[in-house]
Amino acid sequence: MPMLLEVEGLDVRYGRTQAVRGVSLDVAGAEVVTVLGANGAGKSSLLKAVAGAVKPAGGRVVFDGADITALSAPERVRRGLVLVPEGRQILVSLTVHENLLMGAYGRRDGDVARDIDGIYARFSNLAARRDMLASVLSGGEQQMLAISRALLARPRLMMLDEPSLGLSPLLVGRLFDLIRELNRDGLAILLVEQNTRMALRTASRGYVMELGRIVLDGPADRLADNEALAAAYLGSH
Ligand code: ATP
Repeated sequence: MPMLLEVEGLDVRYGRTQAVRGVSLDVAGAEVVTVLGANGAGKSSLLKAVAGAVKPAGGRVVFDGADITALSAPERVRRGLVLVPEGRQILVSLTVHENLLMGAYGRRDGDVARDIDGIYARFSNLAARRDMLASVLSGGEQQMLAISRALLARPRLMMLDEPSLGLSPLLVGRLFDLIRELNRDGLAILLVEQNTRMALRTASRGYVMELGRIVLDGPADRLADNEALAAAYLGSH
């Protein structure tokens, strides 16, 4: 299977802390892959290095067959690799509509207005609040806005860093429905999640990180049945 994203032997260091240690993983086009692990395992650092937000100390990132390790974050976005960071990071002093426009920044085609209409058709809550400050949105709506903004970059691979954090169980269900829907439309997704059960139900494959390394990987259903993983990350129920 041709891989859309290939990460090879990636290292991330912050001074004397090594957050990511020789991580290799891949994501095929139109695949959902999840990265699991406890707080501090290095998941966010991995995504940031793939997105170009932090410079890796070693290793390579290959996207669509090209080595992009030296490219800036905006250049990676232009190639179709986007990150929805943890905590959403939408701009609360801008309106919903202005936040969406920011997502299309750098696009040179003329279809932005049509794509934004498509977002409003999909998310009626955002349409109803288009001219309000993003600060009035609920947590779930802010997450939808963050994902919508990323979609406006016309990604081929979307990386999501703990998108379900702070959402009610109802909204978590809707979020994962959306992830499945976007994937059915052809988007590849690399999903970092604390909600291990939901992530393994949605992904086809998963990787487990511990202290910066990948310690386990495989098909999602096999990981879901793995007792050691269950004890460490799934809780006792
Ligand atoms: P979380 O879910 O809590 O974000 P994580 O698995 O995403 O955890 P990282 O945030 O990547 O893990 O952190 C990995 C390690 O790197 C941790 O020891 C963390 O303290 C450290 N770290 C992360 N960011 C920085 C930074 N900017 N400067 C120094 N150390 C950092």
